[in-house]
Amino acid sequence: MPKVHNYSAGPCILPQEVFEEASKAVLNYNNSGLSILEMSHRSKDFVAVMEEARDLVKEILEVPDGYTVLFLQGGASLGFLVSAYNMMGENKKGGYINTGAWAKKAIKEADFMGESVLLASSEDKNNNYIPKGYSIPDDIDYLHYTSNNTIFGTQFKDIPETNIPLVCDMSSDIFSKKIDVSKFDIIYAGAQKNLGPAGTTLYIVKDSVLGNSSVDIPTMLNLKTHADKDSMFNTPPCFAIYTAMLTLRWLKKNGGLDWIEKRNEEKSALLYSEIDNNPLFEGTAAKEDRSSMNVTFVLTDESKAEEFDKMWNEEKINGLKGHRSVGGYRASMYNALPLESVQVLVNVMKKLALQIA
Ligand SMILES: *Cc1c(COP(=O)(O)O)cnc(C)c1O
Repeated sequence: MPKVHNYSAGPCILPQEVFEEASKAVLNYNNSGLSILEMSHRSKDFVAVMEEARDLVKEILEVPDGYTVLFLQGGASLGFLVSAYNMMGENKKGGYINTGAWAKKAIKEADFMGESVLLASSEDKNNNYIPKGYSIPDDIDYLHYTSNNTIFGTQFKDIPETNIPLVCDMSSDIFSKKIDVSKFDIIYAGAQKNLGPAGTTLYIVKDSVLGNSSVDIPTMLNLKTHADKDSMFNTPPCFAIYTAMLTLRWLKKNGGLDWIEKRNEEKSALLYSEIDNNPLFEGTAAKEDRSSMNVTFVLTDESKAEEFDKMWNEEKINGLKGHRSVGGYRASMYNALPLESVQVLVNVMKKLALQIA
């Protein structure tokens, strides 16, 4: 049983064995007598880490030939700008689906070198659903969406059907389930939700994208710069990449995406079922669009908040407060969170209902 049940939205829980192994590497990497923190990124040891991390991404996600995997800096927030720069074609227009705060930030960046076209939005209902039935114009260079809305607790269950090149911010659900990488031109994700610690951003880029933008791209924002140098154009975030590599090893060893998808479904089914069956709680996202990673819910009677907060704090549950734009509670259940932690939360919810009955 974990010491703390960590529901933090990101940075977030990682496997305990990854922390142990990473801490050993800080003191003495692979019996080299050197810390991973003081090794050259050009050393044989670190180049091997980078290669293994990249190969594990390809293997676990079944990335087809014709794609490049990069570990860069800047977070997904720089990915908003990088993806727009690299995807602009002759129309200089990107289509965007606004499903919440992160999508909105991506939209803003596209307007720096091109034009964002809003295809659909869920803003009318505080982003509690995924828009459906919108039309996609032909004169856009790409369609951008956010696969999982970390703040609002909604998630695309299907990849949008279109012939327009797809770009996706998968920061908060990458490696949580199987995805068909061949449908995308660019996938990007900040590491600090399912992949590793903060500090590196994963890009999976179709090779035909590289060097084909219609706009001039500053060197560091050009994915070709980094692809040409195997993510080592400048010093990469070595320790974050190393720790991400350990997390990917953990995922592979346990059974990869088939295993984690099943485990994530069990966790979210357990919590959503309690939310739906306990009269004291209510989910905030539309049922068909509910996220399996970030579960957002509120108390039906706000006056019970103090008691509920006290109870979950006593059970050593951490990070359950909702984002300020939604309020209530958010249980972020990333890959490393065990089912036992969800059981502890569900038991607290049941106990609260019994006390009141
Ligand atoms: C956390 C998050 C981001 C921001 O990531 P940074 O690495 O902090 O820039 C962007 N998009 C989504 C979907 C996120 O969950």
